[in-house]
Amino acid sequence: MYDLHLHSDLSYDSKENAENYIKIARKKGNVCIGFAEHYDLDRCLDPHEKEAPALADLKKYPETISLLREKYADVKILKGLELGWSRAALPYYRKIIDENDFDYAILSVHAADGRGDCYFPAYFEGRDRKEAYSEYLGLVAESVTSELDYQIVGHLGYVARYAPYGNKRLVYDEFPYLFDIILKEIIERGKCLELNTSCAGEKFVTDVSIIKRYIELGGRYFSFGSDAHSVEKLGYGYDEAVCFLKENGINFICGFEKKKIIEEKI
Ligand SMILES: [Zn+2]
Ligand SMILES: [Zn+2]
Repeated sequence: MYDLHLHSDLSYDSKENAENYIKIARKKGNVCIGFAEHYDLDRCLDPHEKEAPALADLKKYPETISLLREKYADVKILKGLELGWSRAALPYYRKIIDENDFDYAILSVHAADGRGDCYFPAYFEGRDRKEAYSEYLGLVAESVTSELDYQIVGHLGYVARYAPYGNKRLVYDEFPYLFDIILKEIIERGKCLELNTSCAGEKFVTDVSIIKRYIELGGRYFSFGSDAHSVEKLGYGYDEAVCFLKENGINFICGFEKKKIIEEKI
């Protein structure tokens, strides 16, 4: 099992001790787990933001991972970071990636300047789905085409997760032009599309119509992420994700080592 999107208490929104994930992972055998602690400069640099979240401690985090790697040599433990995209944050992120030895960076769009995180109703206030979704996708397009050495595009379609609309599914056919820009860029750059299973009721946060289009365009690189904030969610939906990939002609999943893709057969 490869789960590359885990949050521990090194992230502002999780209370789980990182070691707990490893204890559970060891019971499952043959696993690789990757932490992707939050580094949300997008919200921290937004002057409209009222409750900017705390950033992962870039000194304590690597120290914690080193200790865990020493203690549990039988589990592959990866050190990733989840970067919340904004244009203003880009120079900071480039510096952080350059100066640290993260195995990978997950690039995620969570928020729009002046609107906050799509998790909150304010993001959608006074807007129809076309407006709210297209702004989000425009930001994803901007993020994936930016001069940033990211490895994984996190939870594409996140905007729909907390949307207030009756039918909130965000499908490929609604914004084919924007999706094609995003998906082609991911493929051209050899990056990974994340299969994120943190969406209750749906298989993945990213609608299957979008994933299938990615494959149709030649996309082969996928990472798996439960986006767990507590151990109960570790590996949630992994078997289904693997099944889906195989059904669609993909027979490996991506791990990383110092930003290099490791293809793991499934
Ligand atoms: Zn996220
Ligand atoms: Zn996350």
